[in-house]
Amino acid sequence: MIIRWLLTLFFCFIIALNGQNQKTNLPYTVLISFDGFRWDYPLRGLTPNLDSIKKHGVHALSFRPVYPSKTFPNHYSIVSGMYPENHGIISNNFQNPFDGETYRMSNEKTVRDAKWYVSEAFWETAERQGIKTASYFWPGSEIEEEYRHPSYFEHYEHARPYNQRIDGVIEWLKLPYPERPHFITLYFDAADTYGHRYGPNSYEVDTTIAYLDGLIAELRNEIQKLEIRDSVNVIIVSDHGMTEVSPDKMVNIEKLLSDFDCIYSDEGPFMMITPQKEKEDEVYQLLKSKAANFRVYKRNAIPSYFHYSNHPFIAPIILVADIGWSLVTNKDFEWMVKSPQRGNHGYEKDHLDMHGIFFAIGPNFKNGYPTGTLWNIDIYPLLCRMYNILPRQNIDGSLERIEFILTDE
Ligand code: AMP
Ligand code: ZN
Ligand code: ZN
Repeated sequence: MIIRWLLTLFFCFIIALNGQNQKTNLPYTVLISFDGFRWDYPLRGLTPNLDSIKKHGVHALSFRPVYPSKTFPNHYSIVSGMYPENHGIISNNFQNPFDGETYRMSNEKTVRDAKWYVSEAFWETAERQGIKTASYFWPGSEIEEEYRHPSYFEHYEHARPYNQRIDGVIEWLKLPYPERPHFITLYFDAADTYGHRYGPNSYEVDTTIAYLDGLIAELRNEIQKLEIRDSVNVIIVSDHGMTEVSPDKMVNIEKLLSDFDCIYSDEGPFMMITPQKEKEDEVYQLLKSKAANFRVYKRNAIPSYFHYSNHPFIAPIILVADIGWSLVTNKDFEWMVKSPQRGNHGYEKDHLDMHGIFFAIGPNFKNGYPTGTLWNIDIYPLLCRMYNILPRQNIDGSLERIEFILTDE
């Protein structure tokens, strides 16, 4: 009897020890987003630090965004493993047609309001399974409900100095073990901001590429000073690429539809139109007959590879501009002529100019391992695998498509 009791105690001890080991063996991961950093920017000879990751970690030829290739839908796809039609953030700005309320990425109230986000971000999945997380900016990380945001997060502040953001991440990694987050996001807008202003092939964008690359060195040097340095993964992604646009390539859709009363949402590479119900078909036929430099789809007939019809807030008619073309309303037209943009994104996800970057280095990633294109919806299941936690059911992403970049242990 005593022997049985002692044996049970011994096995409990071994199991507890294993559990403890598993917990302390969890990796740390910093997921960095360089907004609008096109897949081929690292080929310009300006990025020694990305080159070094390429040599000692994983590097994908490109990183495929979801449609529309805009900031909010894509960042939320990366952390949720879902297409926008399933996670709810169908664009940067959009309207609930049932009550007229509008979601805007620049509106604090809407970005913090849980009702727009119908999926689950990695930090929710992780926190529910006992893993602390943090976010130094990421779309969707500021939801007000306690259980929907990371343990630590910052409210978005566009002008927050980049060094301060890096310091913030390092401070989190220096916290005592029980308070220290294992997963941290970090965001930088510069490649997108200057890509819009000066175009992807400008001197200003080249300077930005080199500057952002320098930030990687800063962060990695600081990580090297930490005791946990060998357990830290760094993943660098971008939400989409950038292509050249010009005021000569504009189609004024509102002018084409001047005989109709329509609601227009979004502009540029893609536009959604809500005509009066009884005029839907007439508007569609007219657009179809005039469609030069863009394509027009009824929401329920948009090709399935767009994954852009399921959500009730997607408008009945969707226009997809050819690469480099802009679809505008009268107001946008004037604005674009006065202060033209030189670069934009939001075009089809399979156009290479819309593809971003993926680099990863650390204990979980293979060494010196190049891959073809990876899909951004696969990051969520990848992270769940890295932390050995259960992903949410029925996600769009697939672990099978990406798992091979991880080390075998
Ligand atoms: P886009 O119009 O798709 O080029 O969006 C890029 C812009 O998104 C950036 O310049 C930021 O101002 C904005 N942005 C990025 N992340 C956030 C965030 N977490 N909260 C609010 N705005 C953001
Ligand atoms: Zn973006
Ligand atoms: Zn942008």
